[in-house]
Amino acid sequence: MDLLMIPGPVQLHERIIRAMARQMIGHRTKDFSEILEYCTEMLKKCFGTKHDVFIISGSGTAGMEAAVASFSKVRRITCIDNGKFGDRFVRIAQRYTEVDALRFEWGTSIDLDAVEMSLAEGSEAVAFVHNETSTGILNPAKEIAKIAKKYDALVIMDGITSVGGDEVKMDEWGIDVAIVGSQKCLGAPPGLCAVAVNERAWEFYNERCPFYLDLMAYRKKAKDLQTPYTPAIPLFFALHEALKIIEEEGLENRIRRHRTMAKAVREWAKALGLELFPKLNEYSAYSNTVTAIKMPNGITDRELRGGLREEYGILVSGGQEHLKGKIFRIGTMGNVGRREVIATLAGLEDVMRRKDVIEGSALDVAMEVLASKTQK
Ligand SMILES: *Cc1c(COP(=O)(O)O)cnc(C)c1O
Repeated sequence: MDLLMIPGPVQLHERIIRAMARQMIGHRTKDFSEILEYCTEMLKKCFGTKHDVFIISGSGTAGMEAAVASFSKVRRITCIDNGKFGDRFVRIAQRYTEVDALRFEWGTSIDLDAVEMSLAEGSEAVAFVHNETSTGILNPAKEIAKIAKKYDALVIMDGITSVGGDEVKMDEWGIDVAIVGSQKCLGAPPGLCAVAVNERAWEFYNERCPFYLDLMAYRKKAKDLQTPYTPAIPLFFALHEALKIIEEEGLENRIRRHRTMAKAVREWAKALGLELFPKLNEYSAYSNTVTAIKMPNGITDRELRGGLREEYGILVSGGQEHLKGKIFRIGTMGNVGRREVIATLAGLEDVMRRKDVIEGSALDVAMEVLASKTQK
């Protein structure tokens, strides 16, 4: 079995695997309601919200579509695309309303002036990806929300690879709707997603949204601590355990751990002369949950990632779409730690060294970062 160092699905903690191996329970029982209640309350903390959180049986994209479609009573929505998942927002939103697609070269930062112009020209909502997993860039959520506020626009944020692994303060930042997927920083298996929704978002509610993804149905049933349709019960057992692990670790500690792991990967790469893929500006940052590195000269994607997998049983991700072969991505999310990070970097080094792509080792650099507990 491969060690998964990809940006989801992530390696499962043993406790989470065991949590799923049990008999089904009725979903209209107090037993299930207690699980749903705990998961909802813990997810609120991860989102940084006091408002509602609805859990849907479906992957992260179901959450993106539920958010966009349920709140699509807008003349136009601005969708920011500087990576694959931003592009997904464009393509989802086009099915429900008029879209102003702000496209930036993948891997580059968002131009906030362009966002402002689009809103000034009449968009009533903006959708963007906080942590763009496809390029390893952290987009400026707070700044985008601030601009949107000037125009009273609805703010929808894909927090799928930031919630539970990096700082997200939905209420404080002014985000109206945010989404998380189970198989990323939360450390659970794939198949569940959650959408956090504040009161203001309901002004944009469109009752002609897809039946299964209609968040109003989730809201009605949430009052009885239930889901509208049969939930993926084994995945709820798993999510419940995953969130207990987060509670035990402490969200602050967890965020610090994620930041430390990503920093270790970045410092390691730089020390070896490898180039990080994102082009930052003063508002963007490197992702704290996934690191995208340019494919060095002298080795192919197949040789690098294939070699790592065959010889070490470790899986890292390649580039998506036109970035295929041009970058590779190391996920450091969920319940992995020093051991997994060091094994991954050591394996990558070995494969690259044997192709004369790098000289020497930078594991000491990574270890030094990983050993620092005060990393912010
Ligand atoms: C993984 C991911 C998604 C899509 O999630 P699925 O679970 O594959 O549907 C959306 N947005 C981001 C930022 C992601 O990383």
